[in-house]
Amino acid sequence: MNRNELFRKIPGIDTLLQELKEECRIYGTGRVRDVVQNSCAAVRQLIQEGETEQAEESLKSLEKDIKLSCREFKILPVKRVINATGILLHTNLGRAPLGERQRMAVLEGIAGYSNLEFNLENGKRGSRSRHFREILSKVTGAEDGIAVNNNAAALLLVLTSLVKGKEVLVSRGELVEIGGHFRIPDVMEQSGGILREVGTTNKTRISDYEKAIGENTGAILKVHTSNYRIMGFTEEADVSELSELGEKYGIPVLADLGSGALVDFEKYGLGCEPCVRDVLNAGADVVCFSGDKLLGGPQSGIIVGKQEYIKKMEEHPLMRALRLDKMVISALSATLEAYMDEKSVSSQIPLLFMLRRSQKELKAQAQMISDFWQKKKFPGKCEVMEASGKAGGGSFPLEEIPGYAVAVSFDDEREMSCEEFKRRLRFLKVPVIAYGKEEKIWLNMRTVSEEEARLLTEELEDLFSGGCL
Ligand SMILES: *Cc1c(COP(=O)(O)O)cnc(C)c1O
Repeated sequence: MNRNELFRKIPGIDTLLQELKEECRIYGTGRVRDVVQNSCAAVRQLIQEGETEQAEESLKSLEKDIKLSCREFKILPVKRVINATGILLHTNLGRAPLGERQRMAVLEGIAGYSNLEFNLENGKRGSRSRHFREILSKVTGAEDGIAVNNNAAALLLVLTSLVKGKEVLVSRGELVEIGGHFRIPDVMEQSGGILREVGTTNKTRISDYEKAIGENTGAILKVHTSNYRIMGFTEEADVSELSELGEKYGIPVLADLGSGALVDFEKYGLGCEPCVRDVLNAGADVVCFSGDKLLGGPQSGIIVGKQEYIKKMEEHPLMRALRLDKMVISALSATLEAYMDEKSVSSQIPLLFMLRRSQKELKAQAQMISDFWQKKKFPGKCEVMEASGKAGGGSFPLEEIPGYAVAVSFDDEREMSCEEFKRRLRFLKVPVIAYGKEEKIWLNMRTVSEEEARLLTEELEDLFSGGCL
């Protein structure tokens, strides 16, 4: 084909847009036209530069390439994805997923106006924390409690309102860094508290705390080493010892639990994680923890403990800057409510539900996807393999959670590489996040619900029938 013939072969913008009606509907005509114009301009440039062979190739796949480019658009900035990583509290994927009741509570809370700060009984102004305060006390056994944006904010509020300008004793083994710039010494500095390190990295005794107590001691802070463990020759003072000491000197004992379990995770096949109720019973005056880690709720930070301290925090000006939005209040209230009944809680909180799923179930689910793969004669090899998952989110750093995965591999890397397959999974309508290991792409079933597994097979069909693979 000569140049002029090739130029004539470039379809008109409007003709192409006619063929891309579906894309226009999903992504908006403006954005699709932009891609069409750029793609046509690129072909024109190739012809001008005399790259006729390449131009012919581009023309052949023009429409398909435009469709692929459109897939890279995001319909909404935050969209649903299928988490096939096996990491339950994947911070990059939004940590704890919310269940139906939690989601319904959010929808109800934002459907129109709401009684967020209005007491329907007496027709007067109400407090926004009233919606979950009582339940919070019931499920943790605390005198009182409040909630803020996340646990980092919770600790900041605890320290700012209780120990500004005073020394706070913290064990050297507990100067935690949680991913994403959360470091105990930095939060302490921001709060105006003065960090007083006690003990050593591996051993801190109650006597180390006692020796450090002085005129200006404002509190003792115990930090849960969420995302790491110190092993070997170790020693630490537990909350009950600390609270005895605190009582002796009239110093409050504060505990940052990080994850803050409300149930016994040993019953869910995981190790031992300090339970909020137990830490309060051991004598902690204030306990803070995350709402979207092991609790399985929305991003939030929960503070429970003695009323006199909670009151100080509530009245602190920082509270206004850190307070929860109505969507989170709705989701958090529904989450806490689920914990009122220990028997049914695992059916309502997806995190707990996922942990409860049996090996047999997970294997069957992986088999279902693998059978589908083979029945449809998709290229490559698909196997059902044992695979372990993780709690994630800085919880249970050492525990492996057994389960099953679908492992996909390709004999001919030129036809399809693992990397390319993984990439294409990310461009599906509901993107699938998988991981590569041992030259295979793994889809771990621990974090994929039954409904998502069905969706995944439909999507695979799309992926192959669309000629994308
Ligand atoms: C995770 C964690 C935090 C931070 O909680 P966010 O809710 O992520 O802000 C603080 N302290 C500890 C010990 C943690 O594990």
